[in-house]
Amino acid sequence: MIEDYPRTLMEMERRFSKDEACRQYLFALRWPEGFACPRCSGNRAWQMSRGLVLCGDCRLQVSITAGTIFQDSHLSLTTWFRAMWCITSGKNGVSALGLQRVLGLGSYKTAWAMLHKLRRAMVRPGRDRLQGTIEVDETYWGSEEDGVIGRHTEDKALIVVAAEEAGRGIGRIRLRRIPDLTKDSLHSFIANAVEPGSTVRTDGLNAYRGLEGYVHDRQVQRHQPEGEYLMPRVHRVVSLLKRWLLGTHQGAIGQEQLDYYLDEFAFRFNRRKSASRGKLFYRLAQQAVRVAPAPFSSLVTPQHLGGG
Ligand SMILES: [Zn+2]
Repeated sequence: MIEDYPRTLMEMERRFSKDEACRQYLFALRWPEGFACPRCSGNRAWQMSRGLVLCGDCRLQVSITAGTIFQDSHLSLTTWFRAMWCITSGKNGVSALGLQRVLGLGSYKTAWAMLHKLRRAMVRPGRDRLQGTIEVDETYWGSEEDGVIGRHTEDKALIVVAAEEAGRGIGRIRLRRIPDLTKDSLHSFIANAVEPGSTVRTDGLNAYRGLEGYVHDRQVQRHQPEGEYLMPRVHRVVSLLKRWLLGTHQGAIGQEQLDYYLDEFAFRFNRRKSASRGKLFYRLAQQAVRVAPAPFSSLVTPQHLGGG
């Protein structure tokens, strides 16, 4: 399927003003090679009303949105499409309060749940790992110097960050919250985030020792000149991350939900050079029909599967 997406807000509004148009778009994203029945693998399909497709072979009725993040939602697909546009079109995304206002939603909770469901679609299943030379370092979130005020500040969260070297700049990134600075936690993050054979640059922390399958460029910390950092790319990513968490979301993020904000941050950062914001909309919609639905209860007590 050719990457087909609206380029501007006007295009989006015109094209997706009816649920039926949204459903056709999701249908094409879900079955890019043409319909395949989940029961009999038949390819003949009849579009019925209410978003149902009838298998021409075994007569199974398949809902276009079943098994996607849009399943069982009481909101219209046009509302969902506008939410996807809001979250992908701005450089910094949108807060739940911002989304509630833009869409005129009745409750903050609805806006909050929508954003969290969409964040589930921001981790690409089976995505590629980072390659080349990768800086890896950790940071804390939630300490007093981050300026986080409120009831979420009892615990600090430990976040590990991997950033690809791209000349003097930064390539792609991965982030994940980890429970501790042990060898297990750090090595398993690296195994998930970085392609074997790559060069992994870390500081002198002992827990990084014994990294197997990688070239380990271990930099023993010496005095750094003012304004210079041992891991300049990770340092830059961390400062952008904290600015975003504090700016767009006012730091009001529970420890349990932090993982999903990290996913959103990485999703946006890794596509920051996309020529069109519409391409982010496309990617988000594409992944939204591929991830399992997330009931509200699982948003409040998440089971995180992604990571960075
Ligand atoms: Zn069938």
